[in-house]
Amino acid sequence: MLYQKISDIPIKLEGRVAIKIHMGERGNKTHVSSEDVGIVFERLRKSGCKPFLVDTTCLYQGPRNTPEGYLKVAKENGFDGFPVVIARDEDYVEKGGFKIARAVVDADSLLVLSHGKGHVITAYGGAIKNLGMGCSNKESKSLIHSPSKPLQFISKCKKCHACEKVCPCGAIRVTEKGAEIDEKRCVGCECCVETCSSGAIKARPGGMEKSFRLFSLAAKQVIDSFERIAYITVLKNITQYCDCRSNPGKIMCPDIGYLSGKTALKIDQEAVSLIRKKNPRALDFSTWEIFEREARKVFL
Ligand code: SF4
Ligand code: SF4
Repeated sequence: MLYQKISDIPIKLEGRVAIKIHMGERGNKTHVSSEDVGIVFERLRKSGCKPFLVDTTCLYQGPRNTPEGYLKVAKENGFDGFPVVIARDEDYVEKGGFKIARAVVDADSLLVLSHGKGHVITAYGGAIKNLGMGCSNKESKSLIHSPSKPLQFISKCKKCHACEKVCPCGAIRVTEKGAEIDEKRCVGCECCVETCSSGAIKARPGGMEKSFRLFSLAAKQVIDSFERIAYITVLKNITQYCDCRSNPGKIMCPDIGYLSGKTALKIDQEAVSLIRKKNPRALDFSTWEIFEREARKVFL
């Protein structure tokens, strides 16, 4: 259901409530605001719950790569007045082949508080992304990304630098030999595949589908750990890219409001449908459809 004010959303949770949220990269201004989080906190506390914010460190090098660095960024981004837990490398539990933050799954209830926006791999980043990638440790994040990392045929490279310019992760360097991909930095978005017209970088057959299924399977491990779970997606500041970026690109769609939903798949489907109605060119909807198809195999 769509609301214009976050304070109007009914939330029925109990006990220690983990609020899974992305608090934004350093300099990012479009993540879920601390004002909205404050309203949710007040509501939960009034109903006797003990809420806290939780997230995991990022895979790539940057200020949020360590719990200490992420806590600093969270403060800078307005979350200094809240209890915040950033999972440490040793604080993960194995579930269905993924390592999931203990701080999340040990809570009594889970509130999946997501920002709906574009995403360089999945086209749309919302609840499934927040859970699947967002609750996993670095090893599992890497596992999820791996299938869509491209294949290289360096002898075909014409050293035009186009892929280097388009890579959102700075993972490509063009040397004497040709374009070289740093596997550790690459997140498998396939932007370079679309850019290279020389056949020097190619998609792994079925890689995107496999990666999308892993996103959903990891999210399902988190969901299955809870009897009490609620979803809110903030459809404001709907940017081209995700909150992992200091500069997440253009605003692709006017603000829509706050969505509540019963499942991760349904709230993501509804969010994408609302965005599409506002601007049919806001997102790469054909990639979203592949993501949705793989998610349905896992959730339905
Ligand atoms: S776009 Fe293709 S040809 Fe150009 S540098 Fe990259 S790999 Fe080489
Ligand atoms: S798939 Fe290509 S463009 Fe995307 S992160 Fe990897 S190297 Fe960069």
